[in-house]
Formats: sequence, structure tokens, C-alpha cells
Amino acid sequence: MSQSFTFQQIGLVHSCYKQKFGIPRQPGLVTEASASIELLPPFNRLDVLDGLDGFSHIWVHFIFHECMTDNWKAKIRPPRLGGKEKMGIFATRATHRPNPLGLSVVEVKGVRKDGNRVFIDIIGADLLDKTPIVDIKPYLPYADALPNAKGGFAPLPTTLKSVKFSELALEQAESYKAIYARDLVPLIEQVIGQDPRPSYLVGSENRNHGNQLWNANIKWTAKEDHFLVTQIEYPVG
Ligand code: SAM
Repeated sequence: MSQSFTFQQIGLVHSCYKQKFGIPRQPGLVTEASASIELLPPFNRLDVLDGLDGFSHIWVHFIFHECMTDNWKAKIRPPRLGGKEKMGIFATRATHRPNPLGLSVVEVKGVRKDGNRVFIDIIGADLLDKTPIVDIKPYLPYADALPNAKGGFAPLPTTLKSVKFSELALEQAESYKAIYARDLVPLIEQVIGQDPRPSYLVGSENRNHGNQLWNANIKWTAKEDHFLVTQIEYPVG
């Protein structure tokens, strides 16, 4: 009989992704996504990070906390295969796992202390806002980077799709930048350019979609050869 284990949360993610739809399917794909991991008491101390400044990347072990009530599935349909073929759960990075544990490698931008709060600022996360973190480890290039490794049914990242903006959306992005000092345009280009639509909707053009980034609701339409951002509404959430 297998055993059960309990883990303590050590941190909490603050990220631009406020909902699952639109989050890239792996880390490093949206380099415009800045996020931070806040260390929670009793781990909110700088000495637990001593030596981290020599590492450019970390492994982040987290809980798929928004899938906790979903049942695990032995076989799932990876979006990469267009939803047409099923693969074994342990041959995929899907969220519907027996244990809802996620693993992402992210770039470390820096460490900061704000009163008694300690943050690790990271780049390229694929993590939902408020994701619980259970462990952090440095990325070791000599052991973790394997140039000859085979990538199975996902050998390379998918190519970014073209994203265009309506005049209204560009004006709204400009005013958003003036207020919040965040440039949404490159972030939106990378996030929507990944084509976050579920496989069954790929190919259905002129359908409207929306996803929240930070406190902005991005409205966009899938056109034949590009995505058109029609409107950016804020503040929301
Ligand atoms: N890189 C991680 C891994 O391999 O374990 C995650 C891969 S998983 C395919 C990526 C998806 O997880 C994202 O597109 C997002 O929808 C989902 N996700 C991210 N954070 C989550 C969370 N806290 N709870 C549930 N789903 C989450």
C-alpha cells in the first residue's frame, strides 16, 4: 500500500495570471510575465536564500491548487496533439495528476525584503496568482540541462501566432501604462500568441475570447491568420 505525506506551504505566488485560461503551458514561454514568490512565515527570512544569488534559475515545486477537487485521469489528451490522442498521465505535464504537484523552472530576477515580507522576483512563470509553493531548489546546469534529451510528442515550443491590436485597444494599453507603469502590449502578444484556446476551438474563427492579465480584461477575436485584440478593460477583479 502506498503511503501519504503532508507538506507545508513555504511560499505564495503573485503573478499577472488571475485565471487558468491564458497561462502558458510551460515556463519560459512568456518572458514578459513578471511574478514573485513571497516566502511565508517562518520562511520569510533572507538567510534561507543565502547563496541563491549565484544561480540564474530555480526549480519551483508547487500545488495545482485550482485542480484540487478534480479527479486524476490515467490518460489525458495533450493540447500539443490537438486533443486528438490520449497519453498516459505520467508521460505528460497535465494538471489532473494523482498528486497535484507542479514543477517549473524560472529565471530569478532578484530577491527583496519589504518590512518582514521576503520576495523572490521571477521571470517566465506559468503560475496562477496565489499558487502555493512547497519547495524551491537551484537549477544546476551540469545536471539539469540535457542537450541530447528527447522531447517525445513535444520536442519544440509551438510557434507564436501573430497578434494585432485595434486602435481602441492600443489607446487603452497606453492609458493603462500611464496609470500602472506596466506595458501590456508585449505581454499580451506573448500570452495570446501562444494560442491558449482549448484544442476543440482551434480552427473556429471569429469567436470572441477574454482573459485577465493583472487587473485588465483582454478581449480578443481569433481571425484566420492572427488574433485581434479588440478591447482592454480595466480595472477588473
Ligand atoms: N510547468 C508545470 C509542470 O510541468 O508541472 C505546469 C505545467 S501545466 C501543463 C501548466 C498549466 O497549469 C497552465 O497553463 C495553467 O493553466 C495551469 N496552472 C498553473 N498554476 C496553476 C494552479 N495553481 N492551479 C491549477 N492550475 C494551474
